[in-house]
Amino acid sequence: MTRGNPCQLPGMLPNYDPNDSEAGMKILEDLTENVEQIQQRVLEEIITRNARTDYLKGFLDGQFDKQVFKKTVPVVNYEDIKPYIERIANGDSSNIISAEPIIELLTSSGTSGGQPKMMPSTAEDLHRKTFFYNLLVPVMTKYVDGLDEGKAMYLLFVKPETKTPSGLMARPVLTSYYKSNNFKNRPFNRFNVYTSPDETILCSDSKQSMYCQLLCGLVQRQEVLRVGAVFASAFLRAIKFLEHNWKELCSNTRTGHVSDWITDPGCRKVVSLVLNKPRPELADLIEHECNSKSWEGIIKKLWPRTKYIEVIVTGSMAQYVSTLEYYSGGIPLVSTMYASSECYFGINFKPLSKPWDVSYTLIPNMAYFEFLPVKKKNEDGAQYVQCNGVCKENCMEKETEKEDVETVELVDVKLGQYYELVVTTFTGLYRYRVGDILMVTGFHNKAPQFRFVHRRNVVLSIDTDKTSEEDLLKAVTKAKVIVESLGILLIEYTSYADTSSIPGHYVLFWELTSKGNNHLPVLDPKIMEQCCSTVEESLDSVYRRCRRKDNSIGPLEIRVVQHGTFDALMDFCVSQGSSVNQYKTPRCIKSGEAINILDSRVVARFFSQKAPFWEPV
Ligand code: AMP
Repeated sequence: MTRGNPCQLPGMLPNYDPNDSEAGMKILEDLTENVEQIQQRVLEEIITRNARTDYLKGFLDGQFDKQVFKKTVPVVNYEDIKPYIERIANGDSSNIISAEPIIELLTSSGTSGGQPKMMPSTAEDLHRKTFFYNLLVPVMTKYVDGLDEGKAMYLLFVKPETKTPSGLMARPVLTSYYKSNNFKNRPFNRFNVYTSPDETILCSDSKQSMYCQLLCGLVQRQEVLRVGAVFASAFLRAIKFLEHNWKELCSNTRTGHVSDWITDPGCRKVVSLVLNKPRPELADLIEHECNSKSWEGIIKKLWPRTKYIEVIVTGSMAQYVSTLEYYSGGIPLVSTMYASSECYFGINFKPLSKPWDVSYTLIPNMAYFEFLPVKKKNEDGAQYVQCNGVCKENCMEKETEKEDVETVELVDVKLGQYYELVVTTFTGLYRYRVGDILMVTGFHNKAPQFRFVHRRNVVLSIDTDKTSEEDLLKAVTKAKVIVESLGILLIEYTSYADTSSIPGHYVLFWELTSKGNNHLPVLDPKIMEQCCSTVEESLDSVYRRCRRKDNSIGPLEIRVVQHGTFDALMDFCVSQGSSVNQYKTPRCIKSGEAINILDSRVVARFFSQKAPFWEPV
């Protein structure tokens, strides 16, 4: 294998020592210089390997040509490939879509028919992910010195998993990775030493896992150089957990004994080793910091050597930036990567940039990337649908018929343009619409860099949940039947993700009226609470898991507003430039001013009193 020319390499995954940052940087330079050749090679390799699969055979008819591929293989959504995935889940051979055996299915936070989408994964794909993770190290060491002189307190968790009827594991991508030998038997790398022993990360009881990881992080506080979690929401959940449990954590530190309720044998064993002995002085110190009235800057106080907080704060996680800044004490927030269950996509080459300036460079040997252009509002006379609430951009998504889709290649994207990402992976996805809208912000060598703009069709998100306008409508429709049976009509509704407290929760604003007399009805709290629960029961499985199992979403709230509130909202939207003729009530609100208009007219508030039902798929 030649290190300098990755496009010559079998399998496209150059081998190098991850401790050697210079070698890592060289690989990144090669990958970003040779984008076109690498993308060609990736597509060739994927087609050559998989042309005989049932799926591709039907389109390619034995031809291995890129032009034929682009002409005949359709750009698809999950619903188009779902029958193949289900066949595999039910025992069909995985070579209907992939020549490499599919060893498990990765449950995505995107859902289909209320259940998580399932993405194919192969053994080789784990190596591709390891290669990708290793590339994050040289980028960070380029900007931050001395990362090999201490540890990372990364709070990482596994989630529940199930087996498909054919016996394949179905689990989230990170659970799959942490449970793999690639993670568990990772070679020592002095830049990636964690305070959390693997046993605490792999503990399936999320409360014990969190407690033990925080305890290990506190005991080793003087060694901690960086802290983090995958998403901002998970890191804030850890801070809240600390707020509720610091006294007990201090007591364990003081005595050198782990609390009795930590019953997971692996956790008990490793945490006892880390705790090792009574540490009364350390306990006093942590107690002093945690006892202070304000928790502003608590991260810096508890882990004083921390150089940055590694959490994704782009996309729907941007809503947590100000809360994180409050706790961080000025420590930079670093979003290192952009990835999904389908494929790992890109790396942030300027990790210290501010959250709103973050761009990701797509790594060209991860997959074959294509882009569906997304027009900006009023850019031409075509029919566009407004992109949904979470996006503050002036971009619109063109309603594309499958047949008239023209994609652009990675090397042909244009600066400042918006695109939807389409991937062809090594694992059996061909021209698959990921659903993410990206904007080109620049280039690193020849590789374009993208800002994550928003996810298509998502209006509400607190943690990894992704609720669309349609999901919300379905859930509200079920709940409103309850009030209708009592002679009350729901005349308008909208929603927003309230993240002012942790965990955040969904808020629905409802304008109600009595049938017949047009008055605000008298509301029975029990009935309204039942409406809240019914909405929750009707939302998809990822929402219900976050709410019930992970406790990462709080009880859903309905705020009943006085008559005329939605007229006031319309007046506001029109004053901001919406056309009166085309005005449609937004089903999700982002603007603080609009939320204030609604909030100032709230007459009653109700919360769901029970967590919705959830079980693994
Ligand atoms: P999942 O399929 O559950 O793994 O979720 C993957 C999705 O999460 C992506 O398609 C994006 O919509 C979102 N996502 C992942 N990484 C980032 C990131 N760095 N910034 C914004 N959104 C992200």
